[in-house]
Amino acid sequence: MNYDLTIKEIKNQSIKKLLEKNIDIYSANLDVDILLSFITKIAREFILSNDKKILSKDEYCHYQNLFERRFNDEPIAYIIEKKEFYGHSFKVNKNVLIPRPETEELIDIVINNISSNSNIVDIGSGSGCIAIILKHLIATYNMAAIDISSYAIDVAKENALSILGNSSLIKFINADALNYTPDKKFDVIVSNPPYIAKSDINILSNDVKNYEPSIALFSGDSGYEFYEKIHNRLDILLTEKGKFFFEIGYNQELNLRKIFHDKYVSFIKDLSGHSRFMIGAI
Ligand code: GLN
Repeated sequence: MNYDLTIKEIKNQSIKKLLEKNIDIYSANLDVDILLSFITKIAREFILSNDKKILSKDEYCHYQNLFERRFNDEPIAYIIEKKEFYGHSFKVNKNVLIPRPETEELIDIVINNISSNSNIVDIGSGSGCIAIILKHLIATYNMAAIDISSYAIDVAKENALSILGNSSLIKFINADALNYTPDKKFDVIVSNPPYIAKSDINILSNDVKNYEPSIALFSGDSGYEFYEKIHNRLDILLTEKGKFFFEIGYNQELNLRKIFHDKYVSFIKDLSGHSRFMIGAI
């Protein structure tokens, strides 16, 4: 077996394979560069100018192993265990949803609509991306993060330590938020909950449906189970002047207006023009 391949030769081989799977050329290039950068520790923007470099046997075997995983649709973020969110690098693994760019917009909406001494809970905190960035931006927030998965809480604590320098700046709670009664009510709920209908599983791409945690994606047969249940618990979780901020599916506004008919709600579009955030008060 010939291991003496240059970066350029490896790139050509790999991109060809990804194109055969109908991955577009831009993503194929990006994915291969990210993997090569991860293995060689050469910054991604310098991969091209180093394309005559020959990988060592170990590097090559490691690369093949990771490429195989990508070829089998595993998201790049899980392979390199990292995802950028709001300018910070978050650790991710199969126990947490990969943070999405839309969720960055949710952060700005929350900050622009609450006071700086708010007592906030992030429900279904996953990697911790929402709670951690909110606390990073406004240190005076009193921040709690709740997740049903203890594995997710472990990841979120690691991220809080690396981004905030101290994981105890956020109160992490391993519990089912839909059965949880806080000692002290919150001023603000923020959440990017599961909101996909189980019946829609087949419209998801393989990398999402085969690798991201189902518990983070699906909410009953309709996709509305979380919203229905949380709607019934708002009085238990929130103070009288409490506000809530939820990310929602792009086509869910109409049904959510029905579910939250007795609350003041408004909807905000994301940068792609989809109604994506519901904000409300009790
Ligand atoms: N709050 C996390 C995020 O926005 C996890 C969300 C989820 O698991 N549904 O990425």
